[in-house]
Amino acid sequence: PFRVGVLAIQGGFAEHIAAVKRQGGVSVAEVRTPEDLANVDAIILPGGESTAIGHGLVDADLLGPLRDFVKSKPAWGICAGLIMLADALDDGATSGAIESSAQKRQPLVGGLDITVKRNAFGRQIDSAFRTFELCSDVSVGNQAYFIRAPAIIETGDDVEVLARLGADAPAHLAGAAVAVKQGQLLATCFHPEISSDDSWLQMFLSDVCKAQTAPLEPPPRVEAV
Ligand code: GLN
Repeated sequence: PFRVGVLAIQGGFAEHIAAVKRQGGVSVAEVRTPEDLANVDAIILPGGESTAIGHGLVDADLLGPLRDFVKSKPAWGICAGLIMLADALDDGATSGAIESSAQKRQPLVGGLDITVKRNAFGRQIDSAFRTFELCSDVSVGNQAYFIRAPAIIETGDDVEVLARLGADAPAHLAGAAVAVKQGQLLATCFHPEISSDDSWLQMFLSDVCKAQTAPLEPPPRVEAV
């Protein structure tokens, strides 16, 4: 079956493993080493603490392999996982060369053309179960926990916004994108796994992963002129 990896360096990976186990037709594996990564078809990057996950990836020699993986294979980043997939943070960190001083502060995987502000919702007390507005007609839940969540403050032209905060959000975040998709990459600021809402996982498996594993169409024939 299709093998879903869950990055198990730090953070809330257990809930995602349980969620994948609830689905049919897929198997799940914890990913802690480059060998683990080589054996999965897609990866979930769970929430947690993105600096700890980033340094853990460097220590496990996984940062380079993961950067290569997300260039062609499906990945879903949740909260800290979304931060890992971002091409840039608003503090100047980028997914560029590991040698740069920004990278020493916070290693990123990158791949998703977004700029992210960490801990954008304010203090811990501002972590909450929130409702958001779906921008596309996919059938996914529109409520989830936001835990010391990041905000997406810029999205590139190739990034599709799947959900935005409504007018009831903190004023500085009203209308901000909270779920995005770019090719084989999905990222959410919120945690559907905490409320056992499998709809986002099912959308990841059925839309994002399936699109990547579908057989390629033969190239169109070019008529001679
Ligand atoms: N605040 C965390 C960070 O910046 C993310 C929190 C989460 O993943 N729930 O890494």
